[in-house]
Amino acid sequence: MKPDKLTLSCEFFPPRTEKGRDNLRQAYEQLKTLNPAFFSVTFGAGGSTQENTLDTVVEIQQRGEYDAAPHLSCITSDKAMLRNLLQQYQQHGIQRIVALRGDRPSGFGSGAAGDLEYASELVQFIREETGDHFHIEVAAYPEFHPQATSAQADLEFFRQKVAAGADSAITQYFYNPDAYARFLDNCAKMGIDIPIVPGIMPISNYQQLARFSDGCGAEIPRWLRWRLQDFGDDLASLQAYGVEMVARLCQDLLDLGAPGLHFYTLNKADSVLNIAKQLNLR
Ligand code: FAD
Repeated sequence: MKPDKLTLSCEFFPPRTEKGRDNLRQAYEQLKTLNPAFFSVTFGAGGSTQENTLDTVVEIQQRGEYDAAPHLSCITSDKAMLRNLLQQYQQHGIQRIVALRGDRPSGFGSGAAGDLEYASELVQFIREETGDHFHIEVAAYPEFHPQATSAQADLEFFRQKVAAGADSAITQYFYNPDAYARFLDNCAKMGIDIPIVPGIMPISNYQQLARFSDGCGAEIPRWLRWRLQDFGDDLASLQAYGVEMVARLCQDLLDLGAPGLHFYTLNKADSVLNIAKQLNLR
């Protein structure tokens, strides 16, 4: 597939400090050289991080250069809060949203904290409230969601999210292209025909990656774990290896027909830009 036909997108988390905001602005300036379709901004379950998401997407949107897409999760929000946020996003001209169930933060207790339990209900709610205003992205899991009761059930719930009105999907990150190929096959057999863009996690710090992966159920294959562990404190060599390895993964995914790439940037540009350079995406 030709690079100009790809949908690239970059994900940020909302910074909490002035220094964090400066770092993000710098990363944005560097990453916009990739001409992404949009910059998305994650959404935490706590109150202040939710305001930071709003502030961050509004700042990006108001530059008038690239679309900003807030993530929105329902697990700890009631319908009134969700409605209020949707209205604010609409007023700021935002047209794309990433709809998620979210994870209940530790210490938040158990049981249904919000009015909506699953992402499919949130997608339905967004459609009921705002019609076709938003392009809705949902999450997909080629290695299956860690709380899924079975592979087939997880696929069926993904189908339900799409049926509720999702336009496209972004996957959890993974390092095994076969998982993505199988997932696309399974979706095609179930009549799911929305674009499913692989989420790409650059490798720049092994401990951090291992911690994230344990939390979200993304597998780091044994061969990769061992290679990364071998670098020890030699961060420069680990990062060079990470760029080469992830660029090759991206190429494999594009060869499998991936319609684009969504980069989990962690608010840093360097690894993403180096991967893009190897792929000749600029
Ligand atoms: P769902 O699609 O609702 O699925 C969650 C689980 O419930 C799955 O195991 C599924 O099989 C099961 N399920 C679904 N429907 C039903 C049903 N009707 N009955 C029974 N079981 C069902 N988290 C954040 O907090 N903030 C973010 O900004 C954020 N951004 C993300 C971006 C991407 C691209 C991805 C891939 C994940 C992101 N996450 C984020 C993490 C996400 O919130 C978690 O993975 C969460 O655990 C599941 O969210 P979901 O939208 O996939 O949930």
